[in-house]
Amino acid sequence: MSTGTSMAAPDRLEPVRRFVNTLDIEAGTDAIENVAGLRTWLTEAGLWRGDGQVGDAELRRARGLREALRTAAAANHDKVALSPAVLAVLDDAAERAGILVSFTPERNWRQVAGASGADGAMGDLLLRVTESMTTGTWPRLKVCASDACRWAFYDNSRAGTGKWCSMRLCGNRAKQEAWRDRRRTSG
Ligand SMILES: [Zn+2]
Repeated sequence: MSTGTSMAAPDRLEPVRRFVNTLDIEAGTDAIENVAGLRTWLTEAGLWRGDGQVGDAELRRARGLREALRTAAAANHDKVALSPAVLAVLDDAAERAGILVSFTPERNWRQVAGASGADGAMGDLLLRVTESMTTGTWPRLKVCASDACRWAFYDNSRAGTGKWCSMRLCGNRAKQEAWRDRRRTSG
């Protein structure tokens, strides 16, 4: 939940965080619940290119990738291994996006998504993730530890041990529940 900008991820990673948050679990709203919603969101995020496909299959894959990214971000809390199921979704999205190497006039190179449409846009998001893994910001993209929330946030805490999207709300709520549990078990 929440709209605070302090949870924003650094530059190129921010659209990934926002993509995961297209599903607001606490509010029960989904910005990409249908094909039109997906296309609108990708266009507004600046990820839509060309005249590519977006239909039911692309929608299903986009929503699957969103949950794989949410699970991957959750794994950043305790640095747990990603499951084969999550890896399969990420790899499949990368393959469909046709990620390839492109050389630049500046005597350098970059990776780009060869596919257009929604699959290409998913590839763009994945490339932002791999860049973030390379630059070292990825381990700080997390989802709120509250099961009712699971909001993606960028952990700006000094030690990188943040667990909740907002200490003021979810963190306090978790502490109160723990306190009640302790009272129940001790009393
Ligand atoms: Zn939260």
